[in-house]
Parts: sequence; C-alpha cells; structure tokens
Amino acid sequence: MRIAFIGLGNMGGPMAANLVKAGHEVSGFDVLQANLEAAAAKGVKAAATAGEAVAGAEAVVTMLPAGQHVRAVYMEEGGVIEAAPKGTLLIDSSTIDVGSARAVHEAAAAAGHLMVDAPVSGGVAGAEGGTLTFMVGGGEAAFERAKPLLEVMGKNVVHAGGAGNGQAAKVCNNMILGITMLGISEAFNLGQALGLEPEKLFAISSKSSGSCWAMLNHLPLPGIVETAAANRDYKPGFAAGMMLKDLKLSQQAAAEAGAATPLGAEATALYTLFCNGGNAGLDYSAIIKMIRGGE
Ligand code: NAD
Repeated sequence: MRIAFIGLGNMGGPMAANLVKAGHEVSGFDVLQANLEAAAAKGVKAAATAGEAVAGAEAVVTMLPAGQHVRAVYMEEGGVIEAAPKGTLLIDSSTIDVGSARAVHEAAAAAGHLMVDAPVSGGVAGAEGGTLTFMVGGGEAAFERAKPLLEVMGKNVVHAGGAGNGQAAKVCNNMILGITMLGISEAFNLGQALGLEPEKLFAISSKSSGSCWAMLNHLPLPGIVETAAANRDYKPGFAAGMMLKDLKLSQQAAAEAGAATPLGAEATALYTLFCNGGNAGLDYSAIIKMIRGGE
C-alpha cells in the first residue's frame, strides 16, 4: 500500500519503519528535519510537506504530540483532509482530547474519507517491536480497512466503538492506572509505617482483593516485582509527565461530558505537584516518594 506517515518522533519513527519492513511504500513528513532524516534512513521516503506526503496515498497515519497539532495537520488549508484523495483511510494514533478527535472525524467524513482514532499503549518499546495495543474508534468499514495496517504495528487491535471512542478508552484506562498507583503507594507506605514488610504485604495483597495490574507489574518499591521501574531508580517505563498528560485529558473529557471523577481530579492534582517538583522524567510509580513525604 502507499501510506503517508506524519509525525516521525519517538513513536512514529519506529511505527513507520515497521510499515516499510512489511513491504509498504511509506512517504513521511515531520517538521523536525532530524526526525525526517532518521526515518529516511529506515526506508521512509522524505516529503517536503504533509500535502506532498499525502498526495496519492491510500492511507495516512499520524502520530503527533497533542490535539492542536492533529487539528492543524488534518484541518488546515492544504492539510491532510484537503490534500488526500477522496476515500483515503485516515488513522490518527496520537493521544489527544476526545473533542478534537471527534471534530477531525466529522471533517474527514464530510470530505468523503474513512477515519479511525487509534491511540496506543505500549510505549517506544512496543512501537519498535510492533507489539502496540491499538484502541480504535470509528465506523465498522473504517475499522475493517485499518485493522491489517494496525496489525503490522501492533499485536492487539480492539474496536472500542464510534468516533473518538479509542481516545475515550485510552483516557479512562490511564485514569484507572494513575488512581491505582496512588492507592498502592498509600497502602505500601501505611504498611511500612505499621511495621509491615513490603514483601509480606505484596505476598498477601497480590493474592487478595487489593491486587491489580499496577501492583503486579509496576510495584513502586524495589526488589519484589521484576518489571518494576523502582528496580532501576525509577527510570521510565511510563514517565510521570506522560501520565499527567493523560490525566489532564481525562479531566477535560470529564468536564465536557459532565461526569464526576473526583479521584481522577485528585490524581491529576497530585501528579501536577509531582511533575512541578522536577520529576516529570521519572517513572509514574516514583510518586510513592512524594506520598511518603520528604521528596
Ligand atoms: P514525539 O514528540 O517524539 O513525536 C511527535 C512528532 O510530531 C515530532 O517528531 C514532531 O516534530 C512532530 N510534529 C509536531 N507537529 C507536527 C506537524 N505539524 N507536522 C508534522 N510533524 C509534526 O512524541 P511521541 O513520544 O512520538 O508521542 C506521539 C504521540 O503518542 C503523543 O500523542 C503521545 O502522547 C502518544 N504516546 C506516546 C507514548 C510514548 O511512550 N512515547 C506512548 C503512548 C502514546
């Protein structure tokens, strides 16, 4: 297939390279020349503009920082929606606010394109290894066309429902993760204050009703769970700054939908405090240090 790939950063670069490896003809664009050159070294044909990358493409994939970039790349004059041939499949894999995702879907549909929002989890390692999970929002026909391409870049592809539902799934999931990490941090600190060894609490709680994915995989204390960032001095993993971005998106979505998320709001406030303290680059599980006090 002829594919245009826009946004060739930490995630987009390796995702585009996997499409090239699978035999697709990929034309790429990024505003950062260094990222464009790195992708070109992996077989992506460098285009001078987004419009040039998109001309003649059967599918377009975007992997951009935030909602404003996605709106601009798709909806500006000469942007993807205008430049792509009618009927092009559009896939936005950026993590953005639900409102922007739905606005871009609407503009794409009005121009006769098929679109899915398909944010990912799995991080840079997942992008490199082609093992990402895609949470997909959009119509059935768009999903069926997007699925084989997404399966080149990932290993789990889940249709979450209509336009914007991929983004909705992503923010709801990560809000659970942020809240549970805080709960685990509080409980393990309380345990230690009561003279309960973390190993013992883990042995009991991981087999009891308090068990959860974050505890089993990202326990915020070292020496107990092999995959925990705590074993590597909290080198991410999943950076606290990224968690904060997703928590803020959850709060934006909650405000727009009129849904009460008091724990999501508290988690956002606590991660803001933690990141403002210079910790945005640490793994999100490092927030246990702030909960413990003194850091
Ligand atoms: P990044 O900053 O490394 O890459 C974004 C790229 O988009 C950059 O190369 C930037 O130059 C380019 N860009 C910005 N505006 C552009 C424009 N107008 N036209 C063309 N290119 C433009 O970010 P990333 O880590 O690759 O993340 C991309 C998205 O994926 C974000 O929404 C992020 O939240 C999400 N995400 C990231 C991770 C991760 O672990 N890095 C995990 C899951 C989801």
